[in-house]
Amino acid sequence: MSSNTLLVAGGRVLRPDFEVVDADVLIDRDDGVIDAVGPDLAADHEADETLDAAGGLVIPGLVNAHTHVAMTLLRGYADDKPLDAWLREDIWPAEAELGPEDVRAGAELGLVEMIRSGTTAFADMYFHVPELVDAVDRAGLRARLGHGVVTVGKDDEAARADVEESVDVAREYDGAADGRVRTAVMPHSLTTVAEPLLREAVDAARDAGVPVHTHANETREEVEPIVDERGERPLEYADDVGLLSETSFLAHGVHVDEAEIDLLAERDAAVVHCPASNMKLASGIAPVQDLLDAGVTVALGTDGAASNNDLDLFDELRDAAMLGKLGADDAAAVPAAAAVRMATEGGAAALSLPGGRIEAGAAADLAVVDLDAPHLAPAHDLVSHLAYAVRGSDVRHTVCDGQVLMRDREVLTLDAERVVETARKRAVDLVARAE
Ligand SMILES: [Zn+2]
Repeated sequence: MSSNTLLVAGGRVLRPDFEVVDADVLIDRDDGVIDAVGPDLAADHEADETLDAAGGLVIPGLVNAHTHVAMTLLRGYADDKPLDAWLREDIWPAEAELGPEDVRAGAELGLVEMIRSGTTAFADMYFHVPELVDAVDRAGLRARLGHGVVTVGKDDEAARADVEESVDVAREYDGAADGRVRTAVMPHSLTTVAEPLLREAVDAARDAGVPVHTHANETREEVEPIVDERGERPLEYADDVGLLSETSFLAHGVHVDEAEIDLLAERDAAVVHCPASNMKLASGIAPVQDLLDAGVTVALGTDGAASNNDLDLFDELRDAAMLGKLGADDAAAVPAAAAVRMATEGGAAALSLPGGRIEAGAAADLAVVDLDAPHLAPAHDLVSHLAYAVRGSDVRHTVCDGQVLMRDREVLTLDAERVVETARKRAVDLVARAE
């Protein structure tokens, strides 16, 4: 038995089979792994550190499988516009002014928000990735990070440099932060990266042994030009350039037809469903139940805070379950357990990261949800509560890789007050420069 242990004691535990049992969780802090799950472990183990889970439910840490975390600085800056106008008129001009220190400030704000709402792992596509790597290292989270490549509107040299940066960053930082940071090559989308460079990016990712992450089939306006120009569906094009594989994960997948769903299942590529962003930008309703029925791995993402407008994955859980029913015209579609699975195991699988299960041998990435609040009484079905009633603010403790990131709602790894203050200042300066 390890000499450096953390005990999560006195609570109930959501097991991988979605049974809820009274159990303690014993963690090896050195290895960041769960040693044992069972009743009364406290009686036999003198742990080095104990987290009180009495009156709480221990769940796998949530996985936010698609975001642009530094976009927290643009939260509430521009709302109520379609994707294209929103990007061109508001978001891209502001992003053009972003420096590394802005990205660090926005990222830290997002990391604090995620820790405080029970997220322990995320995937991020943005710029100034080294700043984000450093912030994730200090915050204690797990992440798959990458530099987003856009080549349209750039000359050949600049376009090539952007691809190179994405590949260089992926090679340099894979395994950083004691292995908690993994990387991917991230072409922004099928329409914002020219075909030859998209092929190069995919080949370079395979060479580097890292996944590819991109936006795909988000809006009709994005699908139609591909169909018109190439005579094939976007995911057929993606497959032609070699993009679909068992490590690939695609954000959105809203406008996918049956053949594309079959292709995703065949190639074992994952889809990251972002229901709030899809609703807010009126992008459409992803056929989530159809994807699940076909055996596609589906994860959940908030997308950037400018199109959500928060990074609370419990909101996404609820939105995914509800929008899934509306889209399928069937109240039985995307049931609570399916939504919770997407936010936990599905996310870990999509990102090829550890975590997503509370059991011996699994990564010690977990959150303890307080069940005392009036909006969680009574407790007929705790899986239902996780999907429909729990809020991020109900999370009492957050643990990642065996380390306590938040205890009794106090973030231990970052100075939350300073982070919020710095982000506020940076955001005001940023939009002043952009206007
Ligand atoms: Zn996105």
